[in-house]
Amino acid sequence: MQIHTIHHKMFGLIDVCKSFIIEDSEVILVDTGLNSSSINNILKKLATRQYSLLVAKLCVLTHSHRDHVGGLSKLKELSNCQIAAHEADVDEIEKATGVEVDLRLRDGDLLPCGVQVIYLPGHTLGSIALLAGNTLITGDTIRGSPVGLQPPPSLYSKDNDSVYASIRHLATYDFDRVLVSHGNDIESGGKEALIRLIERLED
Ligand SMILES: [Zn+2]
Repeated sequence: MQIHTIHHKMFGLIDVCKSFIIEDSEVILVDTGLNSSSINNILKKLATRQYSLLVAKLCVLTHSHRDHVGGLSKLKELSNCQIAAHEADVDEIEKATGVEVDLRLRDGDLLPCGVQVIYLPGHTLGSIALLAGNTLITGDTIRGSPVGLQPPPSLYSKDNDSVYASIRHLATYDFDRVLVSHGNDIESGGKEALIRLIERLED
């Protein structure tokens, strides 16, 4: 399995957020970025793999925030992708984008390529992470920084106590690489970095 990162930038400079392409027996897109130009970014990345958007059969949304679902209507124009999101965020996603969510996900659901859905309420009601092999794709429940993993800024989350409980819940899974939507990824030692974050939250 390979996982490719796509950086969505504002004014061509400032990193806004990321999408990911999981490439294995199938191709899964994770999050659509801020707007239609994010989809152009994804198209460029797929082209380097000699793929078009048509190979992506599934797009999983980690949660309903604009910088993760903003490219959805453009994606639907250009592909027949099935759209998947946790059932608790489906209404908000459909209202914000006008695009119908095809698959309503729950904790523990298994997606193609053996990708597992982990339900992490708090940042939004329907936030999820994805476990793909030894890689954890966190959505916004964890962000990266030069000094290690961090919780999201409290201002942007629905319920911070639930965010912290969700972060602690992640320690029950095994993974090595951590891919975040915002900030620095961790290529190895990701589980240890998560434990350090949990210790800091308990201080
Ligand atoms: Zn968010």
